[in-house]
Amino acid sequence: MTITDEETAAVKTHLAARAVAAVKVYGADDTEVRALDGVDIGFKRGRFTAIMGPSGSGKSTLMHCMAALDTLTSGQVLIGETVLSSLSDRELTQLRRDRLGFVFQAFNLVPTLTAIENITLPMSLARRDPDHDWLDTVVSTVGLGDRLSHRPSELSGGQQQRVAVSRAMAAKPEIIFADEPTGNLDSRTGAGILEFMRQAVDRFGQTIVMVTHDPVAASHADTAVFLVDGRIHGEIPAPTAERVLDYMKELGD
Ligand code: ADP
Repeated sequence: MTITDEETAAVKTHLAARAVAAVKVYGADDTEVRALDGVDIGFKRGRFTAIMGPSGSGKSTLMHCMAALDTLTSGQVLIGETVLSSLSDRELTQLRRDRLGFVFQAFNLVPTLTAIENITLPMSLARRDPDHDWLDTVVSTVGLGDRLSHRPSELSGGQQQRVAVSRAMAAKPEIIFADEPTGNLDSRTGAGILEFMRQAVDRFGQTIVMVTHDPVAASHADTAVFLVDGRIHGEIPAPTAERVLDYMKELGD
């Protein structure tokens, strides 16, 4: 059986982002570290994927290279059908701004702006008019009510992270990259954020890729992918916290 070009194209359009034979080497000679050692992975549109693995297995490196924050030594990263290595620095900046969303462990909100100003900041910087219906939807889902006019210092950690997730969603990015988004939150507050991210995927078709150490956090994802020594070791579809924990024990994490 041969695969037609149309079939190949149909598979590709299902992927919001992918890495092909991704290699990242830090240092040289004696100090060389292969942080990524030939990673092939695709992230399906409208899905929530957790990237897991022992400390030093390459999770952050993979995410940074996927999110156009760092470059590969060899191999390719594609966002949709755009090959990142074909873009200039200016085009990469534009791609990060227009097509990607980011959520970090440390919230990274601007302290002098209100919650709603933080949410719309990326669009203000891009001088782009927000889609007001969409913004209303995001803002009503965020559940902050009158706190939208408060500054980050007047909000709890969980509320600040809800603002950060809303900010990532506001410009309707093709994919959101989240780096340990619940790492600074207690487990109940973290669960609220993960449910909020889950809703973004289920109700609004958002695509999310999240690096996490936490089996409970990973259980909110559609798939947990495991990295070991810079390679994909395996994945768990529809992960439960127990199955993720068992897998981590097998890896000796
Ligand atoms: P993880 O996120 O899974 O903990 P990382 O992607 O941070 O793993 O790191 C993978 C490997 O690459 C580790 O051995 C780490 O020490 C190494 N590494 C990461 N960043 C750098 C860097 N800037 N310079 C040198 N080595 C690095």
